[in-house]
Amino acid sequence: MAYTSSLTYEPERIHAAAIYCSDGRVGAHFDDFLTHGLKLPRYDRVALPGGPASLAGHTETHLEEKGVVDELRFLVEAHELERVVLIAHQGCAFYGARLKLPEAYLEPQQRIDLLKAADRVREITGITEVDAFFARLDLDARRISFDPVSVTR
Ligand SMILES: [Zn+2]
Repeated sequence: MAYTSSLTYEPERIHAAAIYCSDGRVGAHFDDFLTHGLKLPRYDRVALPGGPASLAGHTETHLEEKGVVDELRFLVEAHELERVVLIAHQGCAFYGARLKLPEAYLEPQQRIDLLKAADRVREITGITEVDAFFARLDLDARRISFDPVSVTR
């Protein structure tokens, strides 16, 4: 039997995209932040393991990078993208498992990667409005907060 969503469909685009990790434990929090925190409902999602890490020039992410670059170019053309939001998250398994970084090195590397990814997005798309955030976990309170990360040169 078919399932019909109770959510209303709005055809209007918001001309913004977010690039973030596909980790399902934080997906709803990212959605909440983009929709309510940044007031970008219906933003386009570019979700893949590690998110912005794929645009930071790691040799391990060469294939992913090609895909994300193609996707961004498509979104600029077809969806008239004007703004891009990058999100890295605390304890991202991609950094530990794929890039083999020890826990203590994760956040500093993720912050460097956000800066590199922002440069890459600006270079690929010509979009100047690129913002970045670090999603921080409070395991005791079971909450996630989003710290802005400066990515302007
Ligand atoms: Zn992750």
